[in-house]
Amino acid sequence: MALIVQKFGGTSVGSIERIEQVADKVKKHREAGDDLVVVLSAMSGETNRLIDLAKQISEHPVPRELDVIVSTGEQVTIALLAMALTKRGVPAVSYTGNQVRILTDSAHNKARILQIDDQKIRADLKAGRVVVVAGFQGVDEHGNITTLGRGGSDTTGVALAAALKAQECQIYTDVDGVYTTDPRVVPLARRLEKITFEEMLEMASLGSKVLQIRSVEFAGKYNVPLRVLHSFKEGPGTLITIDEEESMEQPIISGIAFNRDEAKLTIRGVPDNPGVAFKILGPISASNIEVDMIVQNVAHDNTTDFTFTVQHNEYEKAQSVLQNTAREIGAREVIGDTKIAKVSIVGVGMRSHAGVASRMFEALAKESINIQMISTSEIKVSVVIEEKYLELAVRALHTAFELDAPARQSE
Ligand code: ADP
Ligand code: ASP
Ligand code: MG
Repeated sequence: MALIVQKFGGTSVGSIERIEQVADKVKKHREAGDDLVVVLSAMSGETNRLIDLAKQISEHPVPRELDVIVSTGEQVTIALLAMALTKRGVPAVSYTGNQVRILTDSAHNKARILQIDDQKIRADLKAGRVVVVAGFQGVDEHGNITTLGRGGSDTTGVALAAALKAQECQIYTDVDGVYTTDPRVVPLARRLEKITFEEMLEMASLGSKVLQIRSVEFAGKYNVPLRVLHSFKEGPGTLITIDEEESMEQPIISGIAFNRDEAKLTIRGVPDNPGVAFKILGPISASNIEVDMIVQNVAHDNTTDFTFTVQHNEYEKAQSVLQNTAREIGAREVIGDTKIAKVSIVGVGMRSHAGVASRMFEALAKESINIQMISTSEIKVSVVIEEKYLELAVRALHTAFELDAPARQSE
């Protein structure tokens, strides 16, 4: 008998009918003999609706109170599923994060899990109950409700699986696995049988929101076998694994990620002295703004241009910090662009293949897509392009790296 953690996402519990369907599925697994801990998201759209209510009161809601309101979404679905299971004769009990005691730090809206008390859950499992836990939420040492950031129920699932040493953490969602790229954007995207933690972490960090980044970090760190599956269709899904198979058929690129959520800032005509990067980025990081890509141009006339990207929602704040810096250091001007997108190719196969970046640039050049910024690491190449070319770029790269699904046989 195995212990399995199953997490169901928002669309999978988006209506009473769906919750009844999830209950049927859980019942079937339970009857097969496994011990089950089920983690749920709020009904799809609910977290957005709650944030919207808060924003009608205040444009910048108090983070602590925002957590109090957004955590209610998951409290609704866990109770409904526990009722649906009980109705089917499957003993079940629901718990909020506080009731389990999923202890987090106090960073409201983006808290990190510090510790999970497994006693209550273990006692319920022993008594034959299915335990249904609210995803996305925890409690800090002072008893304040916290939440783990958008998509955080994935992290609750993986953290519980780690704490309980579960055999597997299964993430049930509205796609039947991890694809070479978002199947909503590229219809020819293919499901991957397996992907390494390292690649999945890059994909998630670079914008593939099928799994929350933290959940992948957690799974890698604690070696939790993680599988992404469709909630209502049978199939093997995608296994996220440690092993990097040394096979001849190892594709160079496993996937393509993209992100529309960044904006670009350039400070022009900066006097080119030692310490310039620090003078520019110091105040940005002191304002708690995260910087992603950075480019400093070669100096001419003793001045240089310096460009970096930030999250969209921090763009205005970053712009005003940068304008202050420009005045202080005597730079010529600050310009910005919010209509950009980042496209990245990801794959451990890159380590053993040269020329991957130039193949990427060639594919983009063929479509006359201009590259504004480039950054590379051992297993990824990212470029910033104009947002309106995003889908074209992703499709072109998908084809160039031979990721397209074989054409369907005509019927
Ligand atoms: P849930 O509510 O179940 O957590 P999400 O919306 O968070 O579901 O994640 C599933 C979605 O992730 C899919 O519907 C898909 O559009 C998107 N997605 C983005 N990139 C990928 C990818 N590489 N593979 C699969 N799905 C992806
Ligand atoms: N309900 C939360 C959100 O929408 C957490 C989750 O679904 O994972 O972000
Ligand atoms: Mg999600």
